[in-house]
Amino acid sequence: MIDAIGGHRDVGLSLWRGLRQRCPNCGRGRLFRAYLKVVDQCPVCGEELHHHRADDAPPYFTMLIVGHVIVASLLAVEIAWRPALWLHFAIWLPATLILSLWLLPRVKGAIVGLQWANRMHGFGDEAEPEGLLGAGPPGPDEGGGAPPATRPRASGSSGQA
Ligand SMILES: [Zn+2]
Repeated sequence: MIDAIGGHRDVGLSLWRGLRQRCPNCGRGRLFRAYLKVVDQCPVCGEELHHHRADDAPPYFTMLIVGHVIVASLLAVEIAWRPALWLHFAIWLPATLILSLWLLPRVKGAIVGLQWANRMHGFGDEAEPEGLLGAGPPGPDEGGGAPPATRPRASGSSGQA
């Protein structure tokens, strides 16, 4: 199945391919050129992948997953065996680190696949003016701070004895 312009993009399949750190379009090309660096283009099918804006979603979901897994495991081990505190630290600190580092690129790949399948952030046929993640609340334009021209300046006040 070759994705044509405007063709169907399977969300589940793209997510799965991203999870396996593969191009969401063809499922063969590598998605990352470094640990968390997404390739600009798929080396196999040439699909442009630089549009992705995973931002801080991958660490967020990674922490969510790791937190649930580690805390549930810790409680289960504590209830079952009541090991010493140092043993808990010796198990769960490295486990948290290893699981996070292992999961992070996979979660990021899945999010890139999801964005690609949903044609977010320029993955679609035409450029999107405003992304979902990019639309922040309107900032405080005016009001509050004094204009810089009216700020009093200390220079020139030499009339004091
Ligand atoms: Zn590809």
